[in-house]
Amino acid sequence: MPLYSDSVLDEVRNAVSIVSLVSEYVALKKRGRNHVARCPFHTEKTPSFNVSEEKQIFMCFGCGVGGDAFKFIMLIEHLAFPDAVRFIAERHGIALPEPVVRPESQGGTSTDILLRANVEAAGYFHWLLLEADEARPALEYLQRRGVTRATIEKFNLGFSPAGGDGLIQRMSQKGFSKEVLLECGLAKRSEDGARCYDSFRGRIIFPITDVRGRVIAFGGRAMGDHQPKYLNSPETRLYNKSRNLFGLGFSKEAIKKHDFAVLVEGYMDFVVPFQYGVENLVASLGTSLTQQQVQLIGRYTREVVVSYDPDSAGVAATQRSLDLFLEEDFRIRVLSLPEGEDPDAFIRRAGAEEYGKRLREAVPYMDFVVEAAVRRQGSLDNPRNKIQVLNSILPYLAKLPNAVERSDYVFRIARRLRIEDQQLLAEVKRAAQQKRARLAEAPLATVGAMKFAEKRLLKVLLHNPELQPQVLGRCSMQDFTGLAAEKIFAAIAEGFRRGERPTFEILNRRFADQPEQAMLAQVQMEEAPEDLSADTAESFYNALRASRLASYKQEILSKIDEAARNKDDELLNRLIEQRARVDRELISLSRK
Ligand SMILES: [Zn+2]
Repeated sequence: MPLYSDSVLDEVRNAVSIVSLVSEYVALKKRGRNHVARCPFHTEKTPSFNVSEEKQIFMCFGCGVGGDAFKFIMLIEHLAFPDAVRFIAERHGIALPEPVVRPESQGGTSTDILLRANVEAAGYFHWLLLEADEARPALEYLQRRGVTRATIEKFNLGFSPAGGDGLIQRMSQKGFSKEVLLECGLAKRSEDGARCYDSFRGRIIFPITDVRGRVIAFGGRAMGDHQPKYLNSPETRLYNKSRNLFGLGFSKEAIKKHDFAVLVEGYMDFVVPFQYGVENLVASLGTSLTQQQVQLIGRYTREVVVSYDPDSAGVAATQRSLDLFLEEDFRIRVLSLPEGEDPDAFIRRAGAEEYGKRLREAVPYMDFVVEAAVRRQGSLDNPRNKIQVLNSILPYLAKLPNAVERSDYVFRIARRLRIEDQQLLAEVKRAAQQKRARLAEAPLATVGAMKFAEKRLLKVLLHNPELQPQVLGRCSMQDFTGLAAEKIFAAIAEGFRRGERPTFEILNRRFADQPEQAMLAQVQMEEAPEDLSADTAESFYNALRASRLASYKQEILSKIDEAARNKDDELLNRLIEQRARVDRELISLSRK
């Protein structure tokens, strides 16, 4: 049962440009008639993700995802179809009628209320920071660290009351129940469940927004030595920790523009350099990034500059993040600041220009790894030290997905350590092969299930709908049984029977929210075949029919075996007749 009528869906669809919609998530580049990018849904080195403004569809030739604007939002925002429709409609100011049926899966409070509660809470925290006496030390702390009023406004920074339930009280005056606050992660229940208290108490608050700028969670930074230093909202229906990154909504444009991201550690390392004009930032917040977060950054660039000393306290977490970047085929460089200075302290002292200069001069990660290993081991005159250094570098070398880069490093490291590079190369190859074996096991989603003739026949029927009566009039639906695109053929035939000529647009609507949409996108995105005649269509249909008959014949043959074993002569005769009929048909098809 559809939630919205076709005319409503068309209105929403027509209001968006798929290229500008997708650009908010992925760095698209114009290539020919399409825009291309590295696919946000699978890991790849060369872009096979295509978006067509003309056709209003997207398609990845690497992993096979594809569809229209709704489909894209469903996949990238992890939304159900009706929610994706609402998501796009809201952003384009289109008023939607009440859905015909409430989505059952939703249950509980709607996400709209959670979002409104977050906005209200963020506003309250912000007001407290600027106006309340109890927030004075927090405000002074920020000012001492050079944070201006404009920056506080820009990032909507705030302060959470220390009392215990100040937020709960305030929110209840505004009509938000405790249940909503509990679901937002803004309140917690006491152990015995008897009462609720604020999750954030006496902390500087950094609202966490998604890449679209909606407040989905909060980060609280402790004042002084309070532990933990950073406290984040728990996972909620709005906030998936492993899929979001603080500040990316502010920095994504600058990251796209500079084509690299500066990885910093804390909120202050983000906010202060940003204020000084270094805007292409990403904050790890002292934990290791997840693969999804690294892929999220990968939508905008494939290069990061790590702007904190990877030898510092969070070294283990940092190391894991950097490993992920390597595995996702990022270029990584390392910027070292004097005496382990924070980026925010450095930029206030030395200025944005000096920081920018150091960013440009940041050394490739492998050089950094080598020098750090050499420093740890001491003299290279000792052969044992050399082996130790080599052993600690090998895992990193093996992670470099690019063979050219890898052998380049082998050469440089061999020189640095004064060893024969043949010997080193052999070691690296062994380590790299182990890694490749692991990668090969990764599953690959695909819509490659369509047979060649099947795809070609669809192309003719849909790129030239005028031919449908002529071609479909001769087809038997039986011959499409078991094909990947069976449902699409059935829908075309059904439309044909009603006297319509189904087009890509009609079918896209019909298969919204279904796997068929990706197949349609694939057929639509590929260029129309040059020969769009009824004869071509018939030859592809015949090929499909022949392959169905061939598998039917296999079935008959195994039944013949069985009947012969059972000495069932009557059945055997019937089957042999059937087989002869199939053979005759196959022969006549092969003559066409
Ligand atoms: Zn893909």
